[in-house]
Amino acid sequence: MNKMSVFSLLRQLWPYVRPYRWLIAITVSLTFLGSLMAQVNAVVLDRTVDAINALIQQGDVLWSRAARILVTISIILLGKEVVASLVTFCQRYFGERLRILVSRDLSLQVVSRLLTFRMAFFTADGNETGKLQSRIDRGIMSLSNTVNNFFIEILPLFTSAILALVLMFLANVYVGLVALCIVPLYFWVTNIQATRMKGGRRSIFQSHQAVSQGILNIIESITVIKSFNRQDIEARRQEDIQLAMTGQQLATRRQSFLFNGLKSFLEQIGTVLIIILTAYLVLIDYPGMSIGKIMYHVMLFSNVSAPIRQLHRIYDDLNDALIYAEGFFGLLQARDQVEESGSYRPEKVQGDFEMQGVDFTYPGGTKALHNVSLRIPAGKITALVGLSGAGKSTIVNLLDKFYQPDCGRITLDGTPLSEWDTQWLREHIGLVLQKNHIFEGTIEENILYGNPDATHEDVVEAARQAFLLDQVMQLPYGFQTSALQLSGGQQQRVAIARMFIKNPPIIFLDEPTASLDAIATEQIRSSIDAIKQGRTVIIISHNIGQIIDADQIYVLQEGRVVQSGTPQEVYRQGGVYKEIFDASARSMNADKIAQTMG
Ligand code: ADP
Repeated sequence: MNKMSVFSLLRQLWPYVRPYRWLIAITVSLTFLGSLMAQVNAVVLDRTVDAINALIQQGDVLWSRAARILVTISIILLGKEVVASLVTFCQRYFGERLRILVSRDLSLQVVSRLLTFRMAFFTADGNETGKLQSRIDRGIMSLSNTVNNFFIEILPLFTSAILALVLMFLANVYVGLVALCIVPLYFWVTNIQATRMKGGRRSIFQSHQAVSQGILNIIESITVIKSFNRQDIEARRQEDIQLAMTGQQLATRRQSFLFNGLKSFLEQIGTVLIIILTAYLVLIDYPGMSIGKIMYHVMLFSNVSAPIRQLHRIYDDLNDALIYAEGFFGLLQARDQVEESGSYRPEKVQGDFEMQGVDFTYPGGTKALHNVSLRIPAGKITALVGLSGAGKSTIVNLLDKFYQPDCGRITLDGTPLSEWDTQWLREHIGLVLQKNHIFEGTIEENILYGNPDATHEDVVEAARQAFLLDQVMQLPYGFQTSALQLSGGQQQRVAIARMFIKNPPIIFLDEPTASLDAIATEQIRSSIDAIKQGRTVIIISHNIGQIIDADQIYVLQEGRVVQSGTPQEVYRQGGVYKEIFDASARSMNADKIAQTMG
């Protein structure tokens, strides 16, 4: 059922464990020592019982000898306990250390991988933020648990069990055989338990996800919920999920207790069988058997059965790891997802783009561009116009090399985009989106994102150019204020300041003022005017005021270029552009505005 076997899981984990092989070697040695320690009680008890028995049978108890026996066992048992505690401590600590280090390495590795992936990866089906995140979280958790389980739990328990079995066999073959026969029975019951409970575990896991997703939804939509007075509906929805989960939880628990009871019972049967057998052997005076040996075998048998009691938990963990490992290693090994890059890094980038016969389909299967040919001349402003979904942003995505076209040719300054060094290309492009990402941190840090080497003076200058300076100065902490506290319009100016400080020769503006008020739009238009000098600018906008400022426009409709030329030419041609333009003027109520102003 699982595509991955335990063997291939361990093989894939090995590179992450290998750097810590000394840690493992030490832990395993300690483990062995610990296993030896675990058998000491049995040996001591065996000897003590026999020695005391011998004393009693002499008739008159020799107290000096009895005292010697008692002192000796006290020293041995206490000494053993001291050593065993030390061993256990080191073993636990080293094991935990191994788990923490491996988990750190795995997460560092996966993050650095993720950063190299191409855009298409992040928009592909199944890679949505939440899913990706849970794949990574669960993968790291269950894989590092596996490492811990395997080296720190399974190994000690099983060495101890095997050692105890060997000692039993050495003392008496028959008793050893009885103990050995019980073991497969345990495995069998555990296996049934794990299989039966797998479905339950999975559905509880899914319910947990549903619960947290539900709570998340409530918090996110609290305004809507309250304004529609839909608290009851939401509460009921949560109740349904909770009720379903309660049922599952109780059923799983019940099953788990039943199986645990069955296993305890089996263990007791084993112990009883061993007592009967050893007692019988003592009674018939079998060579090597004594009363002490009854104790000896019973204690050893508990060492054999102890690990098997843990088996179920380890089995579950391992099963989870097998499920999560696939998705996780899938991420680490997705070499085909790594963004491609050429090596072309010219001294100067002009910004002359050309697209010829470009088709493009998104990973989800939406065909967004059909046979698009256009030219973005260096140093000019080009506006992309069209209704929502026409493919304007897609063109910008392709020019920034976020995606590869299905077919056709895209060149920048005459060199195919694929031959360009991707980082170098993006170093020369400034991208401002409708909603720009503001990182957690101060305003200054957010502006510096555009150029980490810039000085504070550069930041102030960039803020001034983006019409942000006055507003920042009014804030209590100025540039040290958290950027997340800014309003949408102010955040947009941070993004524009970020572009000023980066100072690229090419600028893509994707509806930069869509979420701004009129004054801010006006100011940003002035900042755009200021930066467009000598740069290549592509602007996507629904604001006709910004469109008519362009040197040329391309009109897109359903992924095709339908018109192009200067704004006046295209308007005179009629068609889609004229429709958009006129509707836009009407929606602004241009006549009344003119009357009001007149
Ligand atoms: P515009 O910028 O003109 O509003 P877009 O270029 O964003 O339009 O979108 C063009 C088409 O591509 C639309 O049909 C849209 O649904 C689709 N699309 C956009 N982004 C993605 C994506 N990441 N994955 C799949 N389809 C997308």
